[in-house]
Amino acid sequence: MKLAFSAADEAFRDTIQQWLGAHFVGPYAELRYRGYPGDEDAFVPQRKAWEQLLAREGWTGLSWPKHHGGQALTLEQQVLFYEEYARVGGPGRLGHIGEGLVAPTLIDLGTPYHHERYLPSILAGQALWCQGYSEPNAGSDLANIQTKAEFDPVRQRWRLTGQKVWTSLAHHSDYIFVLARTDRHSTRHQGLGFFLLDLDQPNIHIQPIKQMAGTAEFNEVFLDGAECNAADIVGEPGQGWSVAMALLGYERGVSTLGQQMQFSNEFAQLVAAAQASKRAEEPVIRQRIGRLAAQLDIMRNSALRMLSGLANHAELSRAALVFKLYWATLHRDLGELAVDVLGVDGLQVPSQDEPLSPAQRLFLFTRADTIYAGTNEIQRNIIAQRGLGMPKMR
Ligand SMILES: Cc1cc2nc3c(=O)[nH]c(=O)nc-3n(C[C@H](O)[C@H](O)[C@H](O)COP(=O)(O)OP(=O)(O)OC[C@H]3O[C@@H](n4cnc5c(N)ncnc54)[C@H](O)[C@@H]3O)c2cc1C
Repeated sequence: MKLAFSAADEAFRDTIQQWLGAHFVGPYAELRYRGYPGDEDAFVPQRKAWEQLLAREGWTGLSWPKHHGGQALTLEQQVLFYEEYARVGGPGRLGHIGEGLVAPTLIDLGTPYHHERYLPSILAGQALWCQGYSEPNAGSDLANIQTKAEFDPVRQRWRLTGQKVWTSLAHHSDYIFVLARTDRHSTRHQGLGFFLLDLDQPNIHIQPIKQMAGTAEFNEVFLDGAECNAADIVGEPGQGWSVAMALLGYERGVSTLGQQMQFSNEFAQLVAAAQASKRAEEPVIRQRIGRLAAQLDIMRNSALRMLSGLANHAELSRAALVFKLYWATLHRDLGELAVDVLGVDGLQVPSQDEPLSPAQRLFLFTRADTIYAGTNEIQRNIIAQRGLGMPKMR
């Protein structure tokens, strides 16, 4: 691992801590630990206002280049921000998909039109984005996408027709990026396009899907001739697959460190609950707590190794393949233990009108961690084929 924090970095850490100490107070204090998986619908207007405050004060676009309005921070400085943010229990970032996935994709692969039209509102924390990849018959098998995009040469507009599903936070978003078929005779990875759509139009219908934790963070999105400008395609028609995959590559960005701190916060609450319920005195529970503590350390060090500029090294690329499987499984285990330490109380479900306890929410939602962004089974296939060079099973 190459990462080292200089005296200047430590001074920057102080700046972050001071800023959070001065601003994460008053009306924002109630957002502490809120808005994370299973709790995405919490305090949405307040979290939007928080995003905009971060933006005004220069805490968005941390990795973006200066000429796009970003802060061009070093990797070390970004790591410090995400860790300190999570340490104080800063709320789940509503703008993450736009800032962390869409913007880097547009900066790398977009045109000056894309930069001018979309980056400023992302940077300002004003425009929220969602991801329109999955369809009823295209999840793990994403190349089976059937949504169609047709170009109307008279109106110079693209028209998209089809159905997306499991679209996280579409009901709170302003824009969606959509993978759709530009060549209707094409199959699999060929003939796709990557489109940028304004959700505020009559030909898009969003239908929330209620999840088992009681909330509805994801949605069905029906595109019934939804339209965008001729220029709202990233890359050429037919190149959508490579743009879509480039975007997924940013999912392993520095904000992963914040995720690790969020897990640590959940772990600290779990330990406190285990001590309060006296279950921390039971040998098996102690062992499970000890194992999770070690796994969290491994997760942090693996993330730092991946991020510290060595990612092109073949061995570390293989490590990156393991990372999603590792954190998803760890988080699922954490959710199980959070409920187990409560004993019988963990099984008591409140009445319809009352929310589940944070531990129960964590337990239920962390099942999803092993599904989105590549299921555990798919991750194992990828590790076997790309990491270990094993043959593809038919
Ligand atoms: C909380 C949550 C949020 C999500 N948010 C979004 C979003 O914002 N945008 C978006 O586009 N999508 C989103 N998704 C969808 C997610 O990407 C898909 O659920 C995921 O890719 C799996 O696809 P599927 O649900 O169609 O399951 P399927 O692909 O049908 O898989 C069903 C089961 O079969 C297994 N399986 C499938 N193929 C293989 C294989 N080749 N080998 C071994 N096992 C296999 C899978 O592992 C799984 O257990 C979200 C999902 C969840 C749970």
